[in-house]
Amino acid sequence: MFDDDRTQVIARSVAAGVERIVVLGVHEANLERVWQLACEQPAVHAALGLHPVFIAEHRDEHLGKLRDWLEQLRGEPKLCAIGEIGLDYYVEDPDIERQHELLEAQLALAAEFELPVLLHVRRAHAPMIAMLKRYKLQRAGIVHAFSGSWEEAQEYLRLGFRLGLGGAGTWPQALRMQRVLKQLPLEAIVLETDSPDIPPAGHAGERNSPELLPDICRMLADLKGVSAEELAAASYRNSCELFGWPQP
Ligand SMILES: [Zn+2]
Repeated sequence: MFDDDRTQVIARSVAAGVERIVVLGVHEANLERVWQLACEQPAVHAALGLHPVFIAEHRDEHLGKLRDWLEQLRGEPKLCAIGEIGLDYYVEDPDIERQHELLEAQLALAAEFELPVLLHVRRAHAPMIAMLKRYKLQRAGIVHAFSGSWEEAQEYLRLGFRLGLGGAGTWPQALRMQRVLKQLPLEAIVLETDSPDIPPAGHAGERNSPELLPDICRMLADLKGVSAEELAAASYRNSCELFGWPQP
C-alpha cells in the first residue's frame, strides 16, 4: 500500500507533528522488512509478531524465527513490542484452537523478552481477557482499534492495558464507541491510525495514513470534550511510558 510513496508519507506525517510511528509485523515473511524500515527511518519503531488473520499461513517454525529475531534484537530501542498478535473470531471459519495456541506462545515470548504486546481482538474480548488474566504480563500493552464495551474496557485497564483508538470512533454511527470514549480516563488512551485500514470520517474508501493522525486526534478530542492538545499530550505520554521512550 505504501511502496510507491512511503518515504514521502513518513515525511509528511513527521511534518504534521507525528513524532513516532509503530510499524507492525504480521507474518514471518515481513518481519525483516519491518525491522529494516525501523532502521532506515528515525520516526519508525518496530513491533514483530504473527497476526491471527494469517493463521492458515503460519508454521511452527515461524514461531522459532520470531524468537530468533527477538533474541537478536534484545535491548534494541527500536524494537518496541510484540505485535500484532491476537484473536480474530470475525474472519470466516476461524481456527480458534490454533489462534489460541499461537497467541499463548507469543504471550510467553512477551513475558520472556519483557516486551509489551499489541493486541488485535475482534469478537473475542471475553476469551482474550480470560487469557490475559492467566498470563498477567508485566508490561501489558495496547488493545489496538478497541471497539468493545465499557465493561470490557475496564477489564483491560485493570490488567494494565491501554486502548488504541483511531478512525473507527470518528464515524457518526459509532455511538457505543463514543460513549465509551467519554468515560475513558486520558491515561488509558493511545492514538493510532491502523494504516492503511480504518480511515476516519470524511475519508471513506481512502487509504489511511499516519499523516491523518492529527485529524483523528481533533475529532476524538471533540467527541470526548477535551482539547486536541490535551489528548495528543496524553496519548504521547502513555505511549512513552508503555514503550520506554524518553518522556517529552
Ligand atoms: Zn488489527
